[in-house]
Amino acid sequence: MNNKDIMITGLNDMPVDEFRKNGHEFIDWIADYFNNIESNTVLPNIEPGKIRSKLPLEPPQKGESMDAIFSDFEKIIMPGITHWNHPDFMAYFNSTSSGPGILAEMLSAALNINGMLWKTSPAATELEEVTLNWLKKMLGFPDNFWGIIYDTASISSMHAIAAAREQLTELKFREKGMSGRNEIPKLRLYASEHAHSSIDKGIITLGIGLSGIRKIPIDDKFRMISHELQKAISEDRKNGWLPFCVVATVGTTSTTSVDPVREIGEICRKENLWLHVDAAYGGIAAVIPKMKYIFEGIEFADSIVVNPHKWMFTPIDLSAFYTTKPEILKRAFSLGAEYLKTSEDSKVTNYMDYGLQLGRRFRSLKLWFIIRYFGVEGIQNRIAEHLRLANEFADWIESHPDFERMAPTPFSVVCFRAHPKNINDEDELNALNEKLLDEINKSGKLFLSGTKLSGKFVIRISISGLRTQEEHVKQAWELISNV
Ligand SMILES: *Cc1c(COP(=O)(O)O)cnc(C)c1O
Repeated sequence: MNNKDIMITGLNDMPVDEFRKNGHEFIDWIADYFNNIESNTVLPNIEPGKIRSKLPLEPPQKGESMDAIFSDFEKIIMPGITHWNHPDFMAYFNSTSSGPGILAEMLSAALNINGMLWKTSPAATELEEVTLNWLKKMLGFPDNFWGIIYDTASISSMHAIAAAREQLTELKFREKGMSGRNEIPKLRLYASEHAHSSIDKGIITLGIGLSGIRKIPIDDKFRMISHELQKAISEDRKNGWLPFCVVATVGTTSTTSVDPVREIGEICRKENLWLHVDAAYGGIAAVIPKMKYIFEGIEFADSIVVNPHKWMFTPIDLSAFYTTKPEILKRAFSLGAEYLKTSEDSKVTNYMDYGLQLGRRFRSLKLWFIIRYFGVEGIQNRIAEHLRLANEFADWIESHPDFERMAPTPFSVVCFRAHPKNINDEDELNALNEKLLDEINKSGKLFLSGTKLSGKFVIRISISGLRTQEEHVKQAWELISNV
């Protein structure tokens, strides 16, 4: 049988020689892609359903050649790609990939280990412990925080809420659940009006229900008002609610505002509530000494989430979760099935015990590659440059008579809108800015996103791409101010 026959009978993997040849070609393709990335428009110009219509409804019965598959990848898939790595991608919190991250992902896929237990790949568990300790030091978290990697911040925060609930041990949620129990009070979690929607999703998933989340008002800089938090907790206790958790956000999604962690933490300490700090995007900035202030009071937190896949050049996904109470997290999730017991259990970390999923990708490998390749200084320099560029952009907005800044700029996101002197009707301004954003994005030269602040439509520019340089931000401003 030659190699071809083996493929057709389906009893073997792609022959190694073929893998080698394709692998070299793919790396060349990726290198060229990065070299020429600016020849693409950031957003594809495509109608919904268009990609699907070009793909067959039935799967192929016989295997196809890699040439045929790759040719369709270029012809059908690439035209429907939004280029997150493009230097003019300045929407949402843009997350970009990096060379060391991509290469590590490739190795991780090749090894295909499952890091559920220490035994199922000792290096994966121990590298996760070491890299998370590195990141903890880089961001200035206290030593007593213990780390685990989940896929996304949404999942990290859900685990935080589950641990906060498990902390109410005497209510036996683990054994008895939440439904049909008249003897338990209704649980309440607190977060600012600007907290991320993943907190709401976590509350829904855990059976607490949306009525179990109380949104605390914000001040004129979009930060949680801590005395409003105190007031809400006291009022709820009086009315029979059981407060159990507070989520403070460091870098909110709309404006990147920073909740006062220390003040909130002091309230949590006094009220005996779990404090979770959602710093998915903003947290990475603390790698720079002058930004360490964002975590002032972090010693009051029970858990924190930061996403290297947002602002540390890590291919999606990788979310770092830290807690000072890993034993409570473990109590919430470990079961100890007989077939998963190993003789090393008393000496090692089995990460499957600290979360929902059993199977775990080898994510720490890319974190290790990235931190080593760029070094702490390399990461600091890149983050500092993004902060500088955002500040510069904010200055241009401030000094233009027909634009206004709509929120402070603690990180690298600037919230602004066009406000020509002769227009003062809010509806008219909203319509004008929605149209402006639409035209910018349609140009294909720049991708920005929008939000609403107190009913006002606001445009956001996020400068955190690895390939975004001063010239790109200047061109962006040219385009915005001349549409
Ligand atoms: C982006 C973001 C999230 C969600 O992150 P995922 O990793 O996509 O789930 C949660 N909270 C904040 C503050 C964010 O910026």
